[in-house]
Formats: sequence, C-alpha cells, structure tokens
Amino acid sequence: MKALILKSITNLEQNNEPLVLTRVPDPVPSDHEILIKVSVCGVCHTELDEIEGRTPPSFFPVIPGHQVIGNVEASGKKVKYLKRGDRVGVAWIFSSCGICRYCLGGNENLCPEFKATGRDANGGYAEYMTVPEDYTYKIPDIFTDSQAAPLLCAGAVGYRSVKLTGLQNGQNIGLTGFGASGHIVLQIIKYQFPDSKIFVFARSENERAFALELGATWVGDSDYDPPELLDSIIDTTPVWKTVLDALKNLKSGGRLVINAIRKEEIDKNYLLNIDYSRHLWMEKEIKSVANVTRADVAKFLGIASEIPIIPEVQVYKLEEANIALTELKNRKIRGAKVLVPG
Ligand SMILES: [Zn+2]
Ligand SMILES: [Zn+2]
Repeated sequence: MKALILKSITNLEQNNEPLVLTRVPDPVPSDHEILIKVSVCGVCHTELDEIEGRTPPSFFPVIPGHQVIGNVEASGKKVKYLKRGDRVGVAWIFSSCGICRYCLGGNENLCPEFKATGRDANGGYAEYMTVPEDYTYKIPDIFTDSQAAPLLCAGAVGYRSVKLTGLQNGQNIGLTGFGASGHIVLQIIKYQFPDSKIFVFARSENERAFALELGATWVGDSDYDPPELLDSIIDTTPVWKTVLDALKNLKSGGRLVINAIRKEEIDKNYLLNIDYSRHLWMEKEIKSVANVTRADVAKFLGIASEIPIIPEVQVYKLEEANIALTELKNRKIRGAKVLVPG
C-alpha cells in the first residue's frame, strides 16, 4: 500500500518534506484488530509535535495520523461486532492496558501503557491501517467522511477540557486562544451550559470577530482584563504568559485547564512574574488535559451530531501531506485539513 512515513525527528524550519511517500506491505490485523481501508485522515497540529520531537514517536519509521475515517476491510479471528464495510473512526487513543487502576477507573487516557495512534502505532496517513476493534467509533450518519475526521481529535479533546473545568450551568468561563479547538469548545459550552457566559481572549481580530459570531459574551486581546472574574478558563495556546494572565482572572476556587500537549520554551521566563497572592492564593487550581478516553470521543461525536458541528475542511491528496503540514506550521489555515488517499 501507499503510506507516508516519518523516518526520524526533524526540524520543519529546515526540512519542508519531513514525510516520505513510500510503498509498504499491507498491514495484517491480529486477532482483536480490524483492517480499515482509510477514506480520510485529518492533519493535526500534534503531527508537528511528533515530527519535531516534542512528543516523539516510540519507533521509526512510523506512519502518522490519528483522525481516521474508513471502512472495515477485514477482521481478526476474535473480532465480535464489526463487519466488512462498516464505517468507523479511529482517534488519538489507539489502545491502553485495560487492567491498571486508571483503565479500570475510566481514566484510560492516563494509562502507563497508553498508545497513541500514529505515534506509538501506525496511523492513517496510508491506504490501510489496523486497530483494535474496541478502539473504534461508529460515526453519526449526519457527517461525511471528511467532516467527521477533524472532530476525532480537536473536538474530543476539547470536550474533555470542558469536562475537566467542572463547569456548572450559569458559571462563567474563559477561553484563551481561539483556534480550531476553540471554535468547537465554544459550541460545546453553549450546548451543555446554555446559561454560562463565555469570555474569549484572542490575539487576532478575525478570531475575536468569529468568537462573537459564534455567541461569545465578550472578546478581548489575550492580556485584556475581562469585565468580571471567571469560574474557569481553558488555555489552548502554546505560550506561558497566558497562564499567568488566566490565573489572575480566576475567581477564588477557580480552575485553569491547559489544553496543550506541550508548551513552548520561548517565553518560559515569564513565569518568574508569578505572584502567589495574586495568581494562586484562594485555592486556584491548574490542571492539564492529557489524551482522551474512548468515552470522551463517543460522547463528543454524539453532541457534535446533535448541535450539529459541521467542520469546514480543506482536502489534500495523501501525496500532498507535506504541503498540508507546512501550511499548518505557517498558520495558513482555512478550515481543518484532511488527506484523502487514492
Ligand atoms: Zn490531534
Ligand atoms: Zn491501563
């Protein structure tokens, strides 16, 4: 089959063709796995983190891609529910051990054996991939393949970040940064917590205008003070300054949830400005979001089909993956990018 492989960690400033198009043997499903014929794979910012080594793959060469939609082509001997032709999705969680205290407690995202699709197992930048049957999702009929793919990552993680804020209907919430995940998160909050006010902090005027269009109560630049203190804030930016800005804007007992797989080193010194009484005192909390559980993905797909959230997509051929990744790196973003093999 055709696949794009990453052979080693590389710097995208110097190398704009990090992935190599090649032919590899078709994967063969083991007993509990299915073989999927990939119809679409979303391109995610996390692929840049894998390529540049901020969240490095556990083996090379690896096939990236963790927002996969396709149809079952073949099944291992012990596959129970899926049959040939069924449409399924694969998300960031590829597998977990199933027996540790995290898995048993519904926090399989924290499992020490957590494997990420396209990082610790081959992913969807290919014509075919294999995945355990239990780690696939039924896709609501309302979505085309291309519309569904981008929901599998930013949307599902966004849903988890809202869940981790512990928000109650009527409490107010801030969103720092308003990229692809922010658009979705705002819509989730409006749906789940219709009486909550949403305050959006974004650097670009376009983003602020879009946030208002989607129903934000207030918008401001990333270091503006909101008109009132907030019960919780979700930070999706890669920088540190926003962390202190957010902590300052929280109410007593408020919680900041950081939804970023890695923060960049560039402005880390800003943290030296931390003032205990202003930023942390009165039981303010900071929590990060790590990975997703299967329940998060399934729950979010249901919510997204009810709202509905229909992502705008920009389609590339599989062969154009390096172009899509370079554009993502340079923030040339018009809707979510997806790859279509064949
Ligand atoms: Zn992703
Ligand atoms: Zn486990």
